[in-house]
Amino acid sequence: MSKKVRLSGIAYESLVNGPGIRRVFFSQGCRHDCEGCFNPETHDFNGGEDRDMDELIKEVKDNPMLKGITFSGGDPFERAEEFAYMAKNFKDQGLNIWSYTGYTYEFIMNSLDSRPDWKEFLKYIDILVDGRFDQDKMDDTIRFRGSSNQRIIDVQESRNTGVVIVLHD
Ligand code: SF4
Repeated sequence: MSKKVRLSGIAYESLVNGPGIRRVFFSQGCRHDCEGCFNPETHDFNGGEDRDMDELIKEVKDNPMLKGITFSGGDPFERAEEFAYMAKNFKDQGLNIWSYTGYTYEFIMNSLDSRPDWKEFLKYIDILVDGRFDQDKMDDTIRFRGSSNQRIIDVQESRNTGVVIVLHD
């Protein structure tokens, strides 16, 4: 049986959601309700569209220009089981993986015992951009983040060292 994931959209060749040419999968469903969110249509868990994950994986394989994959939102951590399946396949293709989330890295780490889906997804993520969008901290001059409270975190280095490794000042 084909496996489905519910998406709000796809950016096929994006330059603004991480380094290099990337495919961006926008998840459907978000609980954070950040004031000033740019994508309120992605909040409803019943919105968006079910997509066949194996087809999405094959489409990525067919584009040698892609350097990486970004999971954006909605909140990808609400679809972690499905995205873990996709991310594992993309890792096997040698692609770099970014994910955005409204949860903080610390909250995710403290929840791993009760969230095997988060634990699995995290295994394949190189970079996590974490935290809710704060419109009072919105800053157009920063790259890859909507507000300055959000952090660009090297996930695997952080897990290896036990210290949160943030890749900007
Ligand atoms: S986490 Fe992202 S999608 Fe969810 S409400 Fe906040 S800004 Fe919007």
